[in-house]
Amino acid sequence: MASKPAPAKRSPYRAAGPIVVLGAGPTGLGAAYHLDRAAYDDWLLFERESEVGGLAKSIRDEEGFTWDIGGHVAFSHYGVYSRLLDELFGADGWIEHQRESWIRLLGNWVPYPFQNNLQRLPTDVAAKCLEGLIGAATERRPRRFANFEEFILQTFGQGIADAFMLPYNFKVWAHPPAMLDAGWIGERVAVPDPVRVARNLALGQDDVSWGPNSTFRFPRRGGTGAIWRALAQRLPRQRIVTGCGAVAIDVDARTVRLDNGETHAYETLITTMPLDELARMTGRSDWSDAASRLIRSTVYIIGVGIEGEAPPHLQSKCWMYFPESNCPFYRVTHFSLYSPNNVDDIRRHWSLMCEVSQSEHKPVDADRVAEDTVRGLVAAGLIDRPDRVTHTWVIRVEHGYPIPTPDRDRSLHFLLPAMEQHGIYSRGRFGAWKYEVSNMDHSFMQGFEAVGRILFGSPELTVWDPDFSNTRHPVLGWDRYG
Ligand SMILES: Cc1cc2nc3c(=O)[nH]c(=O)nc-3n(C[C@H](O)[C@H](O)[C@H](O)COP(=O)(O)OP(=O)(O)OC[C@H]3O[C@@H](n4cnc5c(N)ncnc54)[C@H](O)[C@@H]3O)c2cc1C
Repeated sequence: MASKPAPAKRSPYRAAGPIVVLGAGPTGLGAAYHLDRAAYDDWLLFERESEVGGLAKSIRDEEGFTWDIGGHVAFSHYGVYSRLLDELFGADGWIEHQRESWIRLLGNWVPYPFQNNLQRLPTDVAAKCLEGLIGAATERRPRRFANFEEFILQTFGQGIADAFMLPYNFKVWAHPPAMLDAGWIGERVAVPDPVRVARNLALGQDDVSWGPNSTFRFPRRGGTGAIWRALAQRLPRQRIVTGCGAVAIDVDARTVRLDNGETHAYETLITTMPLDELARMTGRSDWSDAASRLIRSTVYIIGVGIEGEAPPHLQSKCWMYFPESNCPFYRVTHFSLYSPNNVDDIRRHWSLMCEVSQSEHKPVDADRVAEDTVRGLVAAGLIDRPDRVTHTWVIRVEHGYPIPTPDRDRSLHFLLPAMEQHGIYSRGRFGAWKYEVSNMDHSFMQGFEAVGRILFGSPELTVWDPDFSNTRHPVLGWDRYG
């Protein structure tokens, strides 16, 4: 008697067919991690560079110094990401730090947050800041701000705006704050408390954001990039192909052509390359037009190796903000403090990593940026003599910060759903172009959640509801722009 055919096994997945992932930065690796965890067996990841990590990679220079692309601090809003970080290295693989961040202004070191530490400023500047803050607090505020500059003026007042917030934000974004939307800040802004500010000023007491719980951890070896190398090593080797980039995407045929001449068919494409490049690669002029309205800055990272040891006043400072025009950088990270292994020999050298932004509104002379940076370090009082510098290392990052302009969401609300109708999920820092969810944890989760949606129909909260993802992280607690 013929045996009855076994009932067809129902697939646990909503998706079928090949999934191709483009890019092995945090987003692409977040997607790959979830695909592997879900035991989906029809996927491949292609990364253009020879190594993984994207903007979160680290580079060892010829002198044996390790650099990040801007000092990365590993935040986490997500259990799945925190647990992964724990697993990747174990406690011994991390160095725990207290987050000390400072602002350099008028020759003074002001602890972050600026508005709570006006006592560190010359009396006349402090008085102007306080006056502006009280004025702003007593005026009626509109619920919505027309742009970021208006938000700054109406929340902090003219004094703090002029001394710190406006010049600093121009330096970071390389765009006038009036060009930025205020929507990315959300409605969850903790308005500075004038009573607390005045009390600190009267008592001359510091009010710092670091305390027993304000710590961060950094890989003992290999810089931030070690996180992403360790994750890639846990994934199936044959599925992660490096040194192989996409050059063309046929949206109708659902194929990707690679720079080695191969063509791969996909049912679903998860891409983490910048959205403007993706749109161009598809040859769709309507997508390219919409993407051309997305604005970004370029960033130069200048690593500076220095002889001797950090001066006493810098020894516990992690990163510092520079609003003034006496130096080209907006932020400097004391990178040899993050790990002594970030320099060749900590008994002989220490290191600083400086970030300089560029755009059409803020040109930078690439040939002089290293020299100007060293001069700026002397002017800002971080090093005493330029001849203490052993060497500099420079990298230019074309896509540095995705700028949250008022137009941005119009482009994104057209592009992302239109692409999804063709099985294309563009995610990540420049894949989804949302600054407010573009740190490593957000990016990893954008990739992770995209796979959850594709395979199981679960919601993608990070990319579609940034406020929800950041509710435990109000803007004034963002003591760092990444
Ligand atoms: C100056 C600076 C400071 C930062 N500081 C912090 C911080 O302190 N904390 C924090 O959490 N985050 C920080 N970040 C953000 C962090 O770097 C990003 O969250 C993260 O790298 C984004 O990951 P991603 O995968 O979306 O994009 P990316 O890292 O850009 O990765 C995209 C990948 O796609 C690849 N790719 C591009 N085109 C193709 C193609 N055609 N084919 C195949 N592959 C392609 C690229 O080579 C790259 O590897 C900072 C970023 C910058 C620039």
